[in-house]
Amino acid sequence: MVPARLRGIDVLVKQEGLFPTGSYKDRGATVLMTQAARLGVRRVVEDSSGNAGTSIATYAARAGISADVFVPATTSPGKLVQIRSAGARLHRVPGDRQATSDAVWEAAQSCYYASHSWNPFFFEGTKTFAFEVCEQLGWRAPASVMIPTGNGTLLIGAWLGFSALARWGLIDRVPRLIAVQAERCAPLLRAWRLGLHEPADIVPEPTLGEGIAIARPVRGSQCLQAVRQTGGEVLGVSEEEIVSGLRETMAAGFFCEPTCAAAVAALPKLSLADDGPIVVPLTGHGLKAADTIGKLLG
Ligand SMILES: *Cc1c(COP(=O)(O)O)cnc(C)c1O
Repeated sequence: MVPARLRGIDVLVKQEGLFPTGSYKDRGATVLMTQAARLGVRRVVEDSSGNAGTSIATYAARAGISADVFVPATTSPGKLVQIRSAGARLHRVPGDRQATSDAVWEAAQSCYYASHSWNPFFFEGTKTFAFEVCEQLGWRAPASVMIPTGNGTLLIGAWLGFSALARWGLIDRVPRLIAVQAERCAPLLRAWRLGLHEPADIVPEPTLGEGIAIARPVRGSQCLQAVRQTGGEVLGVSEEEIVSGLRETMAAGFFCEPTCAAAVAALPKLSLADDGPIVVPLTGHGLKAADTIGKLLG
């Protein structure tokens, strides 16, 4: 982890974009595909147009397992190159995101569903984020962790990981987990404000935080539980805040996806922030979104 001062606050930046495919989704995919191989699985299906699809395709290739990845037909071709490069078969599904979910559900009736949002092995992998953070702090827990959240694959993994370390007596507190959403697609933020235990119904609008633009998170109630149980909070950021957070983060020497900047942009909104280290994971590499970033820079 690298110390940095962002939005006027001292933080530790964890560079999750340094994984082989450029995002922390590799944590989940390597464990999930290792287990699939042990179970003798020959073929998997997954639905994601972004980093999860890329990670599953890549680790399927490493495990010698064939992968079919379902994406909405509207997904920009650039994002699909990395998935195709690993030899996965792409299925473009006409209609909205739900149509893609329906199509993969159908396909999963006859083969293994390597879902990053449903499959528990994926979360066993994202747990390692918590292990590494504490190890890098000399087996201490940080005070807070800022987590850009859509389906909650990092949030729930971190919750499981920090909770296990506390149970084993390796750390003496579980850090506050701060879930950060883009205001334009924020079912958890809305639920949090209304005091609900399930994600709220929302009408999603497009956001620069495309990695966390999930209107109906399947583990939404677990996400809310993770935040509540650790004494954290759900914060929302506007598009303007994402852009200014991104500019500052990149100018500090961290080339990351716009999605990651949501976590940075939320820093000034933290209600409790001065009782220990604050960790900010930069979840995806900037090269993933170089076109978008180029446009933002003008
Ligand atoms: C997947 C991802 C996240 C977190 O998304 P979840 O839907 O909560 O799992 C955050 N940032 C990036 C870059 C991602 O790829």
